[in-house]
Amino acid sequence: MDSSNNELLNCNRRDFLKVAGIGAAALTLPGLIRNASAASVSNMNQEIVETDVLIIGGGVAGTFAALKAKKEGVDVTLADKGTVGKSGMSPWFGAYSVFEESSSVTRESYIETVSKAGEYLVYRDYLDMFMDDSNDRYQELVSWGAVEADKLGHGPKFREQVQKNGIRLIERTMITELLEKDGKVVGAVGFPMEEDKAIVIKAKAVVLCSGSGAFKPSGFPISPLTHDGDTMAYRVGAEISGKEFVDFHWTHWENPADVWGNWGRMWGEGLHYSTFRPGGNSGPPPVGQSLQAHSGEVPLFMGRGGGGGKKSGGSPKGGQPKGGSKGSPPGGKGKRSAGPGGKGPRIPPGTRSLDLPVVGGSTAGAGPHKCEGIFPKDARCSSNVPGLFAAGDALCTAGASYSGGVGSSSSGSAVQGGRAGMYAAEYAKKMKSAQISNVKIAEAKKRIFEPRSRSKGYSPQWVTQVMQGIMIPYYVTYVKKQDRLEAALANIEFLRDHFAPNLMAVDTHDLRRAQETKNMILNAEMKLRASLFRTESRGAHYREDFPEKDDKNWLAWVLISQDGDRMKLTKKPVPNEWRS
Ligand SMILES: Cc1cc2nc3c(=O)[nH]c(=O)nc-3n(C[C@H](O)[C@H](O)[C@H](O)COP(=O)(O)OP(=O)(O)OC[C@H]3O[C@@H](n4cnc5c(N)ncnc54)[C@H](O)[C@@H]3O)c2cc1C
Repeated sequence: MDSSNNELLNCNRRDFLKVAGIGAAALTLPGLIRNASAASVSNMNQEIVETDVLIIGGGVAGTFAALKAKKEGVDVTLADKGTVGKSGMSPWFGAYSVFEESSSVTRESYIETVSKAGEYLVYRDYLDMFMDDSNDRYQELVSWGAVEADKLGHGPKFREQVQKNGIRLIERTMITELLEKDGKVVGAVGFPMEEDKAIVIKAKAVVLCSGSGAFKPSGFPISPLTHDGDTMAYRVGAEISGKEFVDFHWTHWENPADVWGNWGRMWGEGLHYSTFRPGGNSGPPPVGQSLQAHSGEVPLFMGRGGGGGKKSGGSPKGGQPKGGSKGSPPGGKGKRSAGPGGKGPRIPPGTRSLDLPVVGGSTAGAGPHKCEGIFPKDARCSSNVPGLFAAGDALCTAGASYSGGVGSSSSGSAVQGGRAGMYAAEYAKKMKSAQISNVKIAEAKKRIFEPRSRSKGYSPQWVTQVMQGIMIPYYVTYVKKQDRLEAALANIEFLRDHFAPNLMAVDTHDLRRAQETKNMILNAEMKLRASLFRTESRGAHYREDFPEKDDKNWLAWVLISQDGDRMKLTKKPVPNEWRS
């Protein structure tokens, strides 16, 4: 190591930023940092909690899971990385859709429409569940006052219900690992934000309601979501799916954080539903034409969003949005901004919205709602690992695109959460508490706190920035091709092998970042491998080198599982009766 690096090692990160005088931008410089007071793992406290059903995540799925499990008469604990109702995506939804059968919309026609929109990878049992329960969950939200609540007001109503119903609440605690014994999930381990302490939760059943994830993009307000659930589940042998499908909330070169102003385009052009091949389901242009740089045009102007595009494309018939307007900002008032700053877009009159220099990615790293996550083993929200259940954005049910349309994600999470809580409680009633050895707990603690015990290592923020640089370019994540995917994978493997094992955390907040960074790297690998594996284009997965849909070979889910040190990918054919 040369002397300049040694100098860097002798000051802590904040000193270094002061010297550099350029704030966060300094993090793009080499990420070696030094911590003067590394924590000793062996001295760390631990707290042990015993429960019947542990719910991880307190969004709308976790809230309903906890309430329905409790109703079954078991002891329930809900753990959340943030505050229930304020963390994750749930505080933000404005529209909630329910299924209402009518003469024009039957159960059959609803299944047909949604399955087609999901390019026949929809896990259909969950459509039945949605049609059966969505209205009941909506009525409960109404009875809590959650629907009338102004702006972000519905979130706190979730917390109120959890507290009222005697559910043990562990907040501001990141769960990092599931505990496994004899092939079954028997609890989880994590740490609180404020203290160097392990929280060990022994449970007969665990329900992952930990939402989805992204790569901490600067658009959607979803930075706490880093696919922690998928990562934990993968490490105990669960099958993960849908990683090749990409969320298409658009943004702009000039103003990437302008989330609200760009929704009109997404819905209006139907991009969310269909393939990006010419003549896909509803015939949108291929994605390359939507991304001007890719189509070979030099962008002639770079205006703000908020201009073109119809205001909504609507959801498939039968999912009736309630409680807000389609794709609207929280509060459901349907307001649309022209972007921060209040000035109108510099867009020539008559310009079609798709002529704008759209770049994918205000949700970079996310899949469309409910298209990725733990793959269900059955219609009871179970995973392939006994004792582990999942619901909401953590469960992969929607197929190759956001097939249920506007409002189906919040309601889908509510419905699946309620069912998962009930099924997990039924399972827990049949199980005895597992004995977990102190050795196992000590090993888990060591893994959690390793970044705190290091006296030198890489800053999690710096590694995250490096990963963003590899994954966020539209020509990697959105317009895919074998050579570029392989190049990105080689880089991500380097991060996995050299940076992830050497992350360093100066406090518990930094420890959370370190754990999140590791999870995002694993997810980046899953996304690249799944994208390479699926040699066709379907739904929200577009391969420039395989631009056509290939039903003969690819009416199948890609399942990812851990095989020793290897990531294993397999094809699971869609059952014949779900193929049209
Ligand atoms: C800006 C925005 C607008 C939206 N508008 C709509 C809309 O109008 N209609 C609609 O249907 N959908 C909408 N959605 C999507 C919808 O909000 C989500 O699909 C839904 O809320 C997901 O609910 P969930 O409970 O499954 O997950 P989330 O609400 O994301 O909850 C996940 C929870 O898990 C916790 N968690 C994560 N990791 C850990 C960990 N390691 N340890 C402990 N806890 C953890 C998080 O803190 C969080 O509380 C919108 C989303 C956003 C971001």
